[in-house]
Amino acid sequence: MRRKIIVANWKMNTSLDEAINLIIDIKNLIGDDYAVLCVPYTHLGTAQELADDRIGIGAQNLCSREEGAYTGEISGKMLASFGVEYVIVGHSERRKYFSENNTDINAKLKIAIKNDLSPILCFGESLEQRDKGNYLEIIKTQVEEALQDLNAQDLSSVILAYEPIWAIGTGQTASPQQAQEVHVFVRKLISENYSPELANKICILYGGSVKSSNAKEIFKEKDIDGALVGGASLNASEFIKIVKAI
Ligand code: PEP
Repeated sequence: MRRKIIVANWKMNTSLDEAINLIIDIKNLIGDDYAVLCVPYTHLGTAQELADDRIGIGAQNLCSREEGAYTGEISGKMLASFGVEYVIVGHSERRKYFSENNTDINAKLKIAIKNDLSPILCFGESLEQRDKGNYLEIIKTQVEEALQDLNAQDLSSVILAYEPIWAIGTGQTASPQQAQEVHVFVRKLISENYSPELANKICILYGGSVKSSNAKEIFKEKDIDGALVGGASLNASEFIKIVKAI
């Protein structure tokens, strides 16, 4: 059985007090379930202290270099030393606003793995690429370049997240069938490039305007192993409804 997981991406939202209240509310509502909260860097220490075994803590980014004179950057080693378990890598907002390319993303994945973090690798096409019809080729390039030089052992700690750019923060969700098509495609790619066993084991999340009202439908698809949730993760009861829908 593949692992199913719901991951919150809080992006650049919440003051420390708001974050504390949100985590407390999530803990009060989550029951015996599990979720990962990718919180802003400044909240990692507090989040880690508040978390229990039902909550995994993740960062939203890390530096592509190991350490040194990179003012303002946060290293994989720093994240690991906080007890952080997960880190989002290659989110489309980082690609768009901070010009991250597949080479940077590959370097970040390697640093994350070296520091025993589970990277959540985001990939996905723009609306223009979808309309042109070459989105599967774009996704193949993104995934293969991001995973360059990673072996099967490395990949066993990686979580994949298909996030069509046109569905992120827009309220426009990919249909379950559109998402499933890409998940099957990526799983086949992993099978060909690594092994069928690894492809069957790897967790592939969907992200893009997931809400309590559409989560159940999306999770019915057999290759969708959970979700990366942005906007809806900032409201505890809405987020927990998604966690409970898996
Ligand atoms: C995201 O930030 O990864 C995301 C999927 O955002 P949203 O759920 O708001 O579309």
